Amino acid sequence: MITSAGKSGAFPDRAVFGFDVNASATYLAVSLHGGTAMTQRTILIYPDRRLRTKAREVAEIGNATRGLADDMLETMYAAPGIGLAGPQIGVMRRILVMDCSGKEEEPAPRVLINPELVWQSETTDKREEGCLSMPNQFADVVRPDSVRVGFVNLEGVAEEETFNGIWARCVQHEIDHLDGRLFIDRISLVKRQLLRRRLAKEQRVGRD
Ligand SMILES: [Zn+2]
Repeated sequence: MITSAGKSGAFPDRAVFGFDVNASATYLAVSLHGGTAMTQRTILIYPDRRLRTKAREVAEIGNATRGLADDMLETMYAAPGIGLAGPQIGVMRRILVMDCSGKEEEPAPRVLINPELVWQSETTDKREEGCLSMPNQFADVVRPDSVRVGFVNLEGVAEEETFNGIWARCVQHEIDHLDGRLFIDRISLVKRQLLRRRLAKEQRVGRD
């Protein structure tokens, strides 16, 4: 999951990208497949080993996959976040959902199955990222600012699409999850150790 976060600078702030109750309610009212009961799933928290495990391809797209996609979107909006990958809810399959539309825009839920990066720009940008599997931890991450992704949609049709800006950042973060990679793998060792220590400390405090 990429959280709806960014603390400073050019990256939109949490309020801008946060999905509030209204956005979530709007989505619920326009469920992709109307009538399906959606369930919020539990988001796994680092260092759960499943977050470090490569996910397998989705072999067949049927009602189970569509129900899973609905659950993932509901879980993502409720978090709130702008992206969620299968392994984050313990589903070790190559599926991700995202919605990077702004707070003032219509919700734009997306579901990408078996996504693959087919091209990435040489130009990069550096922006702050967070991850709902690492609550309250943020760091600047450098990534290509534009990528082209091949994937299969919920109708089982192969597509290719170019993503830019926050959408490009989000889709790369989520594809990383499918390969067992986290955003902390893309920052300096010193910063990574700092975030890990902070998270461990928060988890200890949380248990007390
Ligand atoms: Zn994440």
